Amino acid sequence: ATPTALMVGTGRGAQLGILIKGPEVLETTRRADTIVLDKTGTVTTGRMTLQTTHTTHTTDTTEVLRLAGALENASEHPIAQAVATAAADATGPLPTPEDFTNVPGLGVQGIVEGHAVLVGREQLLAEWEIRLPDHLAEAKRAAEAAGRTAITVAWDGEARAVLEVADAVKDTSAEAIRRLRALGLTPILLTGDNRAVAESVAAEVGIDEVYAEVMPQDKVDVVKRLQAEGRSVAMVGDGVNDAAALAQADLGLAMGTGTDAAIEAGDLTLVRGDLNAAADAIRLSRRTLSTIR
Ligand code: ADP
Ligand code: MG
Repeated sequence: ATPTALMVGTGRGAQLGILIKGPEVLETTRRADTIVLDKTGTVTTGRMTLQTTHTTHTTDTTEVLRLAGALENASEHPIAQAVATAAADATGPLPTPEDFTNVPGLGVQGIVEGHAVLVGREQLLAEWEIRLPDHLAEAKRAAEAAGRTAITVAWDGEARAVLEVADAVKDTSAEAIRRLRALGLTPILLTGDNRAVAESVAAEVGIDEVYAEVMPQDKVDVVKRLQAEGRSVAMVGDGVNDAAALAQADLGLAMGTGTDAAIEAGDLTLVRGDLNAAADAIRLSRRTLSTIR
């Protein structure tokens, strides 16, 4: 292989908004036959907004937003940002938590104004033996059936609210996935989110294979399992709960709009955060390498 041709390939990549870590990346890019796409922040914009707050009869919505927002303000998760922003808009400056822990793939927990607060999946509440009352469980089911992510809020040992958060599919995602298929790659959607939400997003962008409700540490195993089947796996993510999986993939593609962890773990960065750049990268690497041979 002539180093000059490879350098031309990487230079053209930069023009297309693709940063390639080194010329050797082109070879793994060419070989990829499967592309795993993280949902939040990759297929969807990741800019979530709080749509609706359902509370128990004795709970004040303002208090839900202040306590949940204070905790979420300390997290960089897109859901957290949606909750914190809505809370600050509705209630003013948020208190600083006395204690805060991020529980990856489940939510956040901590102490706010003396209350032990939990915000996240129902499973997080279940770990503390907190159950949702029937009408909140019903609100959660309805939200998920409608393709929204439902977050639960509890404090002092009691479930208090269900927050409906929604995120839009990027308008470039469906086209990019069609192009990736045309290049011979099988797209797979991977998410920690609820199955109903995942299926609804997959249907919207034309993906048939879905791994939902996957914990952050298990995202790596999904990649390993696909590799064990003999597939050459590319993975696209934003680094929020998926950096290890990005590093495990034969080819890690980091959303440039994502975290520094993604860019570090990835072999390739899609500067504009547009999935079309993933298709461009694969087309470019095939063309560059066929010029060399
Ligand atoms: P994805 O795979 O879609 O990027 P994550 O693995 O980051 O999703 O999160 C999985 C689920 O865990 C979310 O859909 C949400 O229900 C819950 N979750 C994670 N972090 C938070 C948080 N900071 N606040 C509320 N819920 C959270
Ligand atoms: Mg993510």
